[in-house]
Order: sequence, then C-alpha cells, then structure tokens
Amino acid sequence: MTALGALFSSADILVVDDNPVNVELLMDLLEDEGYQAVEGMTDPLLLESRVQKKRPDLILLDIRMPSISGLELLELLNKTWGEQVPAVIVLTAQIDEATRHQALQLGAQDFLTKPFNHIEVLQRIRNTLQLQRLLSERFEKAALLEHLVVERTRELSLLSRQDPVTSLPNRSVILETITQLRIEKRGLLAFFIALEGLDEIERLHGYEAMDQTVCALSARIQQLIDLPIRIFGVWSTDTWVVVCETTVSEQQAEIFATRFLDVIQVPLQLQQLCVYVRARIGVSGSIAERSPEQIVRMAAVALPEADSQWQGYDQALESTLWRKNQLSDALYAAISNSELHLLYQPKVDVRSGQVRGVEALLRWDSPTFGRVSPAEFIPIAEANCFIITLGQWVVREAVSAIVRWRAQGAVDEYFSVAVNVAGAQLMQPDFAEWLIDVVQQAGLPAHALEVEVTESDLMQDMQLAMIQLQRLAAVGLRIAIDDFGTGYSSLAYLKVLPVSVLKIDRAFISEMHVDTQDQRLTSTVIDMARHFEFLTVAEGVEEPEQFKLLQAMGCDLIQGFLFAPPLKESMMLQLVASGFADTPAFTGQGHSFK
Ligand code: C2E
Ligand code: CA
Ligand code: CA
Repeated sequence: MTALGALFSSADILVVDDNPVNVELLMDLLEDEGYQAVEGMTDPLLLESRVQKKRPDLILLDIRMPSISGLELLELLNKTWGEQVPAVIVLTAQIDEATRHQALQLGAQDFLTKPFNHIEVLQRIRNTLQLQRLLSERFEKAALLEHLVVERTRELSLLSRQDPVTSLPNRSVILETITQLRIEKRGLLAFFIALEGLDEIERLHGYEAMDQTVCALSARIQQLIDLPIRIFGVWSTDTWVVVCETTVSEQQAEIFATRFLDVIQVPLQLQQLCVYVRARIGVSGSIAERSPEQIVRMAAVALPEADSQWQGYDQALESTLWRKNQLSDALYAAISNSELHLLYQPKVDVRSGQVRGVEALLRWDSPTFGRVSPAEFIPIAEANCFIITLGQWVVREAVSAIVRWRAQGAVDEYFSVAVNVAGAQLMQPDFAEWLIDVVQQAGLPAHALEVEVTESDLMQDMQLAMIQLQRLAAVGLRIAIDDFGTGYSSLAYLKVLPVSVLKIDRAFISEMHVDTQDQRLTSTVIDMARHFEFLTVAEGVEEPEQFKLLQAMGCDLIQGFLFAPPLKESMMLQLVASGFADTPAFTGQGHSFK
C-alpha cells in the first residue's frame, strides 16, 4: 500500500462505465493504490440492485451510457436514498456546461475527465472519500445524539409518572386512572394508606433501610393479585393510594382494607434488621359529582386516628373536620378580639370548708360559634401549636388576677391559682424560666401559682419534663398531676418528679359511692399520696356521699359541682369570703350545682 492510509483501503468503490476498458483501467489503478474493495460494472442497469444490496462508499459513474444515462441513474439514486445517497464522482469525456451543472445539482461530488490523469484521479477519489468519511462521522454523531435525546426524554417522562424509590405510578397516573374509570362508568373504591413508623426507621437505621422497607411493602401489595386493583401508586413519601375497580360497598371496603393492613403489618426482615410498619387506611368511593382529586382527598379525610384501622368516608366526618378547621382559624383571632376569659373553680378544704385555691379554666365565647368547650378547642390549639400563645395568655391573666385579689385583701397569702399546662408548653425549653419570670415580675411568692400537668403530657418527653418541673419546684412553684389514674399512673415516676399535688380524676370519683372497686382504688391513691407527702385533690365531686367517703379517706381538697362549678371572679371571691363550712353541702344536708 502506498500513500493510501489503512483508513481508505477498505472503502467500497464501484466503477460504472459501459466501456469495459475504462472500468478495467480504473480498477487496476485503484487496486495498485491499495484499495481492496473495488468492483466494476459495465451494465448500468445493475447499479440499483447492487446499491440496495450493499451501499458503496463511492460510485465512479459514467454519464454517457447506451441503456440509461448517468444523470438518470443519479436521479434514481437520489429518489431511493435521499440524504443517504452514496458519494458519486462523474466520469466524462468533455461534457457541456449544462450537463455539468445538472450533475452537480443532482449531488455529484466531483468530475474526472477522460482520458484520466492518474495522479489527479487518485487525489480526487481520496478527497471525496475523506469528505464522505467526515460527513458520515458527523451523521453518525447526530444520529447518536438524537437517539440519546429520545432515550432521555422517554426516561424523563417515565420518571415524571413514577415514584423514584418504588417505581410505582405517581399522583398524576393515579388521577388519570380514576378519570378513566369514571369515563368507563366503573365503580371504584379508593384506599388512602398512611404508613406509620417510617420516620423512626429512617432515624434509627438510615434512609436506605427506609427505602428498602417501602419497596418490600409495596411488593406485598402488588402480590395481592386476587384483588381487582386498577392502580397502586405513591401519593407522598409515606402515603399510598390503591384504587380497586369494584362495587362501592362497606363490605368490599372492609375486605380490601383488611387485606392491605394485614400484609403491611407483618414484620419485615431486612438483612439483620427486623422492622415493623403500621398503617391507617381511609376509604372513599366514586361519587358522580366528585373530581378524581376530591375522591382521593375524601379517602385522606377518612384516615382514622388510630393505627391498624380503616375508616370509610362520610359527610359527618367532613363536617367535623370542617368545623375543626373553622375553629382553628377563629381561635387565632380570639385573643386579640377579647373573646377569651377565665373562670375559677374553688378547691375546698375537706376539714375546714375554706377555699384554699382555685383552678383557672379557660372559656371561649366566639361570635360565630358561641360558647366553645375547652375540651373541643384545647386539642385543636394543641394540634396547631397555638396552645403556646394561648397558654401564655392564661398564665398572664391568672397571675394578674391573683395580684389583684391579694391587693384587695380578698384572698390570704396561701391562696393559690392553678393553671393547666399542656404538653407542648412544657416541652418549650424556656418554659420554666419564662413562668418563673412572670411570677417574679408580678411580685408574687412562687406558691401562689400551681401548674397542672397530665401524666400523658409528662410522658411525651420525660427527660425534658423533669428538667422543667425541677426548675419550677426549685423556686417553690407547686406542681399538680392532673387526671391522675387515667394515664400511666406509674408510681415510679411520682417518686422522682418534684410533684406536690395529686388530682384524682373524676372517673374514679363519679362512681365511687356505688362502686367498691373505685372506692378501694381512690383510698389506695390517697394513702399512697400521703406516704409521698402529696396534697390530694378529688375532682368532679358532685354527690354528698362522695364527699363523705373522701373525707373519711383523708383526701385534702375537693373540687366539684357539689361546692361550685367554675365561676366568674366576683362570685368566686364571695365564696372565698364565706367558705363552705356552714353550707348544706358541707354539713351533709345535700346540695349540688349539678
Ligand atoms: P381539667 O383540667 O380536668 O378540668 C376539669 C374539668 O372538669 C373542667 O372542665 C371543669 O369544668 C370540669 N368539672 C369540674 N367539676 C366538675 C364536676 O363536678 N362534674 C363535672 N361533670 N365536671 C366538672 P372544662 O372547664 O370544660 O375543661 C375541660 C378541660 O379543658 C380541662 O380538664 C383541661 O384539660 C382543659 N382546659 C381548660 N382550661 C385550660 C387551659 O387554660 N389550658 C389548658 N391547657 N387546658 C385547659
Ligand atoms: Ca386541670
Ligand atoms: Ca383534671
């Protein structure tokens, strides 16, 4: 091989000329130069089929041929091959300007004039091959690029319809499927599945373990092939939606929901880990006038509060939630609109009948909703954290009230006001400091304020609760355990917490005069409290018999309708002044505010 690079030696070159001498000549020339794939052709009519069989890199094409002209062949090639037409060099004796022009228009790359000058022929062929190679490389790159773009676009559109972790369909596909079912007029049940415990798995074992858990659980749902599942997709990280094509009935909902709960809640073995995920399921059916989004939302609304349960959607549920939302909004404005006030319920000394203190109880008179019970709005405030602001308002109000009463001489120096403190308040790291500051700024002795906390609130974070309570107790504030007996009632924590008052829950008191079991429990609690030197308060005392029993058991204070309901300040102060020693309730003549 001479100057020709290995690059071109394999180039497929076709020589087409009706004159065999020309063909022979060119083939010899090319083969001598090192071209190894040269083919000659004297019948131009065979060209088409040869090109079809194998597309050559270059055609050396005569123009004047008897059966078909080179120009006509060029035209044919263009027609079948379009942009992919092989490179053509036209072989001519002298041809006129017009033919030349036409050949160029038809895509001829170059001309070789007969008789051939060998050096020129080889050079022009090489130039054309080089150009061809460059073009085809560029073409290949463009094609590759196009292919990659198509691939990626497909991937992206798949991703936009898929959850990246589980590869399950995402929201848009779920909604499309519901739309489709509606178009087909099929009955459907939508199950909104909330997975519980994933956070904990992520916190303890990392996000990979969480992802594996979710994938393994989703596989379990996918295996429920006997259920008429039309789509199973991901709504958010820890919520799924399953849509079943079925008649809308409570019975069907129960069967399917139970199956889902059953498969999800089986403990899962992940390498050395054993994880356990719980679930809650809300169910809704298709209702003609609801949009697919609303159907899913209804199922989400129906999510029950407790784990391992399912609940179907109904109108009442939505009204309850709607009221909750409305109350929540209205509550934010309640303080600035002066819709809140405190009532005070006396705590009466069992021995003397004197009022030793009061519990401050919050009241909300809403212009829209009327009187709303704290049992309803406190949990709402707790859920949206407004309880912090609300709690601060209560403390300030109670503190300024007791300052006023002391200044008026209406109460003695041992009199105390108890405020209820919610778990969220107690968990504020600066709660104790803040409270102490308010009491000191008001110039009150610490024992003038008592905080009531429930056992369950303490349990939210025992460590933090302990720190806060110890700070409060260290300056002399009194701490009462509220609703004692309804929560954990662990004596162990009572020993370590700086508690000074136990409030025995109404649940034990209300039946104690007829239920000996309650009686025994109450008396045990009172004995135990005495042992720890706690003060005992019996809540919700309504009946004289209850009072007598509690008196005999050595209970210290009584709070309940038997003596007084929560009262306005003026009324309460009157009772503080008179005491209860001479009232029929105290002397046993029978009387109750019930
Ligand atoms: P609680 O702390 O257990 O308050 C005692 C509840 O029992 C009060 O209900 C009171 O009116 C009621 N009660 C008192 N004596 C009797 C009785 O003899 N019979 C009956 N049937 N009930 C009696 P209220 O005022 O409706 O408060 C309900 C709950 O709302 C309170 O339970 C407390 O947990 C919460 N709460 C009230 N005010 C506040 C507050 O300012 N902050 C916080 N965090 N919670 C509050
Ligand atoms: Ca209380
Ligand atoms: Ca209570």
